[in-house]
Amino acid sequence: MAQKNTRLWREAQEAFPGGVNSPVRAFRGVGGSPRFFRSARGPHLTDVDGARYVDWVLSWGPHLLGHRHPKVEAAVLKAARDGLSFGAPHEGELRLSRILHKRLPWIGKLRFVCSGTEAVMTALRLARAATSRDLILKFNGAYHGHHDSLLVKAGSGVATLGLPDSPGVPGALAALTLLAEYNDLDQVRQMFQRQGSRIAAIIVEPCSGNMGVVPPQPGFLAGLRELTRKHGALLIYDEVMTGFRVHPGGAVAAYGVEPDLVTLGKVVGGGLPAAALAGSAKLLDLLAPAGSVYQAGTLSGSPLAMAAGAALLENLDATTWKRAEAAAARCAEGLEEAAKAEGIPLTIQRAGTMFTPFFTAEPVRSAKDLARADAKAYGKFFHGLLSRGVYAPPSAYEAWFSSSAHGPAIIAKTLAAARAAFQDLGRARPKR
Ligand SMILES: *Cc1c(COP(=O)(O)O)cnc(C)c1O
Repeated sequence: MAQKNTRLWREAQEAFPGGVNSPVRAFRGVGGSPRFFRSARGPHLTDVDGARYVDWVLSWGPHLLGHRHPKVEAAVLKAARDGLSFGAPHEGELRLSRILHKRLPWIGKLRFVCSGTEAVMTALRLARAATSRDLILKFNGAYHGHHDSLLVKAGSGVATLGLPDSPGVPGALAALTLLAEYNDLDQVRQMFQRQGSRIAAIIVEPCSGNMGVVPPQPGFLAGLRELTRKHGALLIYDEVMTGFRVHPGGAVAAYGVEPDLVTLGKVVGGGLPAAALAGSAKLLDLLAPAGSVYQAGTLSGSPLAMAAGAALLENLDATTWKRAEAAAARCAEGLEEAAKAEGIPLTIQRAGTMFTPFFTAEPVRSAKDLARADAKAYGKFFHGLLSRGVYAPPSAYEAWFSSSAHGPAIIAKTLAAARAAFQDLGRARPKR
C-alpha cells in the first residue's frame, strides 16, 4: 500500500479505537488496511496517494446521484454562506418536509433529527408511549442503529466482529427486545400469541439491507401489518437505508403495505447528518412540545443537511432514479455471469438501487441463511476488486449502492475487475 496511507493508518490506530470512528470502516471483515480518501466526484473516490476507485459504497448509501452532484453541492454552499446553524426554525426544514410529504403521501407529520440511530430511538420511545407497552420485536440480522434497546443480533458491523450483542447494554433493556427471524411470519405470529398484549411495536427494515439485501417474501409485510393491528401494536419501517433506494416512493410504494411510523436517514441528508421520523399527525403530536414524549436536538434540521437532502431529492426524478436502478441491475447481472464463468457459486439479491452478492448457490431469506455464504471468498474478491480500482463494501453482509452517475463505462470497469478477481478466486479453489 502506498506511503501516505500507511502513515495515516498508523497514526489513526493511535488516535481512534481500532483506527476508525465507525467499526465497519476498519476492514476487519475483509482483512487489510482501510483506504484514506481525499476527494470524490460522481462515481469515483480518490485516495490520499492519488489512486482512483469506482465507489459502490457511496458513504453507505446517501449519494444516490453520485458524489458532489452539482445541484447538491451548490445548495450546500449557498446554505453555508447564509449561516451554518440557527438553533431556531428556518425555511429549509419546510422545503425538505414538503418534498417528503409528496413522496410519502401517507405521512401526516415528521421530525428531523441528526442520525438514523436517533430517529429509531425516538420511534421506539414514541411507540412505547403510544401503546403504554415495553416490548419491541426486531429481526435477527437487522441493524437499527447503535442505541441500547436494539443492539441485539444486529447485522453486518456486529456480525462481522462476531459479537452477539454489546457489553454495556443492560440486560434489563435487552430483555425488552424480542428477536424473530426475518421472513418467518409463523414465528412472529407465535410471539404475538404468547405476549401480544405486551408488544409495543415491530421494527423492521421493509427490505432488509443490513445482513445484505434480503427482500421481504410475498405476504411477510402484510402479515406483520395484520398481526400488529390485531394486537394493538405499531408497525415501524426502518427505512434509513432503503428510503428512496428500493423505490422513489419508499417501501410503501414498493410493497403496498403502510406502517404506522417510518424512520429515514442516509439519502434524506444527501451526505450530511440528517434523518427523520414520520407518521400520522396524531402519533407525531405525542412528541414535545405538542405532547409529553421528550426529544430534542441542538443541530436538528441543520440548514446544510436540509439543503443537501432537498437538492438531492429534487433532482431525483424518474429518469435519474431509473438510471441508478439500471446501473445496479447491470452490475448485478454482470457479476452473476462473471462468477458463473469461473464456476463460483454466487447469488445476487437486488432491490432497486441496492444489491448484495452472496457467495452461496442458495437464496438468502434470513440471517440464518448467512452461515451458508462464504465470507472468506468475499474478502478475497473484495481485495481483488480494490487492487483493480473498485471500492466495494468491506463486509460480506452489506449492500452495494449504485447512483445515477454509474454509467456504462463505470459498469464495464467494475465488471472487468470482477472477472479478473473471480479468475483469481477460481484458480485458488480446489478442483472437484
Ligand atoms: C444506517 C442505519 C441506521 C443507523 O443510522 P445512523 O445514521 O448510522 O445512525 C439505522 N437503521 C438502518 C436500517 C440503517 O441502515
